[in-house]
Formats: sequence, structure tokens, C-alpha cells
Amino acid sequence: MSGSSLESRLLPATSDLESYKDAWGFIEYIEGELFEISLETLGVANKVARKAGMKVGAIILGHKIPEEILRELIYRGADYVIYADHPELEHYNPIAYTEVLYQMIERYRPWALFFMADDLGRDLGPKVAYRATTGMAADCIDFDVEDFEFKLAGKTYKNLLAQIRPAAIWIAKIFTPRHRPQISGVRPGYFKPPPRDPNRRGDIIRFDPLIPEEAKRFRVVKVEKLPEEKDPLREAELIVSLGMGITRRPGGEPDPVKAFEMAKELAEYIAKKLGVKTALGASRALIHAELKELEGKITHDMQVGQTGKAVSPKIYIAAGISGAIQHKVGMQSSENIIAINIDPNAPIFEIATHIINEDLYTAIPKIIEALKKRLGE
Ligand SMILES: Cc1cc2nc3c(=O)[nH]c(=O)nc-3n(C[C@H](O)[C@H](O)[C@H](O)COP(=O)(O)OP(=O)(O)OC[C@H]3O[C@@H](n4cnc5c(N)ncnc54)[C@H](O)[C@@H]3O)c2cc1C
Repeated sequence: MSGSSLESRLLPATSDLESYKDAWGFIEYIEGELFEISLETLGVANKVARKAGMKVGAIILGHKIPEEILRELIYRGADYVIYADHPELEHYNPIAYTEVLYQMIERYRPWALFFMADDLGRDLGPKVAYRATTGMAADCIDFDVEDFEFKLAGKTYKNLLAQIRPAAIWIAKIFTPRHRPQISGVRPGYFKPPPRDPNRRGDIIRFDPLIPEEAKRFRVVKVEKLPEEKDPLREAELIVSLGMGITRRPGGEPDPVKAFEMAKELAEYIAKKLGVKTALGASRALIHAELKELEGKITHDMQVGQTGKAVSPKIYIAAGISGAIQHKVGMQSSENIIAINIDPNAPIFEIATHIINEDLYTAIPKIIEALKKRLGE
């Protein structure tokens, strides 16, 4: 298909693509509460905006939003904040929220807009994308700024947002070349919000929205706060993760229960001695192996990776984990990665900050021993 005949079959492109600037993060402010998790959108926006030579905008909707919250968004990495304050925006009203965001897009023309891939973002992001006649890449785990050669159309688009996400056994890169803004969902846990800096300054811009009549069709009858679910893996500063390596042992009998107990001892010792939160994690292969002897010990909520949880602790210890891409995407943003593996070519070593090329059955007790010595026992 030639470029021009393809063009005639596609949705008309956004006009004046070049006029779209800046990367926006949508901040969730619900029932008078700022949802910290949504600050991760500012982490993403900062990453791409700095590379593309653009600014970072924080977008927030609500009613009676305190000024401290607006200023906080500047401290947390926004160059400016655009907010809409209206009684109809007090609760999450998808009709009103979609329309107001669309009006902001029309007025300010952002180049990219990021939503958290949580309950609210997954609902609102696609609605806004549809309203603005643009695309949306859901559940992304990384982003970059790249040129994209759209071979079918015979064109190269410069400086696009590369939206990166797992797709079955591949990692897909998605581009929205002909429409703006480029809208993406960001999987929680992959981006840290920028560090808080109370010396940062930026503009706080009030946007007066037109709330459509039909938004009144949506009424919040009752708001009930669910008890907060604590997730030890996401809160932990140190995670000891186990993989299928616990079922193998060069020149010896593997004992998965012993390996589990060793990992637990290490995590608990550090928690007790250093007063930090620690947790145990696991690879999907180990969880799916459903070892009888580890029933109730290795559980599904411990899975780290593409179809499990994304974690970024200060220290991630991967013991007997090969480092398949689906595991790596869930832990590679950890500050320090200590990998224990008998295979010198294990892919996990490519991203490890500390490599222990050894049998985990001997390596873990050595780490515990060394820690005890160091901590004066
Ligand atoms: C769509 C899809 C989604 C997926 N999602 C996830 C996910 O979310 N999380 C995830 O983890 N996986 C996921 N996977 C599976 C992933 O592809 C790998 O199969 C899995 O991560 C491998 O687990 P492992 O490293 O424990 O096992 P293996 O790949 O079998 O690796 C075991 C490692 O242990 C080492 N070893 C062996 N004995 C010892 C010893 N005694 N001491 C030290 N090292 C030893 C070996 O050298 C090897 O490197 C997914 C796959 C698909 C297709």
C-alpha cells in the first residue's frame, strides 16, 4: 500500500502536530486526598521532557484543592501546575473529568499525557484519549524519546514518545505518530516520583472549566473508604527473591525448604538488626512449580515481574533466578541488585550491581555470617 492511499484510510491526523509541547502527569486528588502513587507520572514526565527539551506539567482536578497541594506538585518535579477547581469535580465523575481534561488539552496542547495504570487511570485515560481522538498505550513500564520510521506511510516522525510495555513474550514499543497528545498508562512501581525539593519554583495556573450538562447524570451517592491494603513486597527496602535455582544443586542434594529458611533468616536478620522493612519474593517459575514442601510458603502474591509485581527496593537479592526479561522488568529499577547464580552467563548478571557466581546453598549462609561479624555478633 502506498503512503498516500494508506493515509486516506487512517483517522485524520491531529493538525499542527509541532505545536504540541510538554509532558503532563495526571495527579489523582480524590475525596480531598492526594494519591501519592500518581506522583510517579511526574517521574515519567520528567524523564521524557528533559530529553525532548520540554517542560513538565502536573494536572489536577478537584474541589477546594489546598494551595499546599498545588505547591507540593512543584516540589515533586512539575515545572507548572494546571488545576481545575469545581464542585462537580469533588468526586471522580468520569463525564466531567473527561470533558475538563479535553478542554485543557485543547487549550494548552500537551505533547504527552501520563495516567497511572490504577483503577482511576485505567478508567479515565482511554476516555480522554477517545475524546481527544488520539491513541493510548496502556500499562507501560518504560518510556523514551525517539524518531520513528513509519514505513507503511513512508515517513519518519521525529522526537516521538516511545511507549514500552510487555506483550506476551516480547517487549513492545508503541508510537502514536500522527496524533497528540500521546497518552500512556504507567504501571505502578516502575518510576519513582522525583525527589522532593522545596526550593523548586513554578507557575500555578487556574483553569476554569465548562462542566457539561450531561455530567450531572452522574451522581456519587456514597463514598466508602476501603481499608488500606499493605503490600510487604512494595514497601520493603530489601527483598530476597528465590527462583528455580533452589531446586538444583551442583554436587549435592537440593533442599528447597532449607533454601527458603535461609532466605527467610537473611531477610529477618536484616529487618531486626537494621530496622528496615524486608520481604521475600519469588520468580514465576518457582511459584508455578507448586512444590509440595513449600506449600503456603511460596505464594502467588510473592511474584515479581511482568505478570507479578513491580518493585524497586534499595536492595534486591535474586537467588537462583536466571533473569528472564519477564522477571527483570519487575525489579530492574532496584537501587542495588545482588545476584546469586551458579551460571556465569546468567542474564541476571547483566543488570546486577553485585555478582555472586556461586551455589546459593553456600552463598546465603556466607552472607548471613558476614553480616553477623560486621554487626558485632
Ligand atoms: C507472558 C509471560 C509472563 C511472565 N511473567 C513472569 C513474571 O512476572 N515473573 C517471573 O519471574 N517470570 C515470568 N515469566 C517466566 C519467565 O519467562 C521465566 O521462565 C522465569 O522467570 C524463570 O524463573 P527462574 O529464573 O526461577 O528459573 P530458571 O530460568 O529455571 O532459572 C534458574 C536459575 O537458577 C540458577 N541455579 C540453579 N541452581 C542454582 C544454585 N544451586 N544456586 C544458584 N543458582 C542456581 C540457574 O543457573 C538458572 O539461572 C513469564 C513468562 C511469560 C511467557
